[in-house]
Amino acid sequence: MVLMTDETQKPKMVHGTYACYTNNKCRCELCAGAAREYMRQYRQTEQGRQKSRFYTHLAAKRASRAASWLKENNPEVWAEICLEINPSTYKNGSR
Ligand SMILES: [Zn+2]
Repeated sequence: MVLMTDETQKPKMVHGTYACYTNNKCRCELCAGAAREYMRQYRQTEQGRQKSRFYTHLAAKRASRAASWLKENNPEVWAEICLEINPSTYKNGSR
């Protein structure tokens, strides 16, 4: 007879693995490192490259929309951000 305790039924947490990072949501240095390496390799696959391009595209679109909204609705904040990012180009809130 095999005793099935809670301990034996639970999959063991093996740190330093992508599975532990995703399934157990462990964020220890070993698991975070394994996840980084997994994603680094994934981005080198064709599917990974496509996904990466897609999310980069979404981020650019989102940033553009956010900037337009800010310019329109909060021009003084927009000017402040522009000045902070490039003091020589953006003077007096102009572009
Ligand atoms: Zn871990």
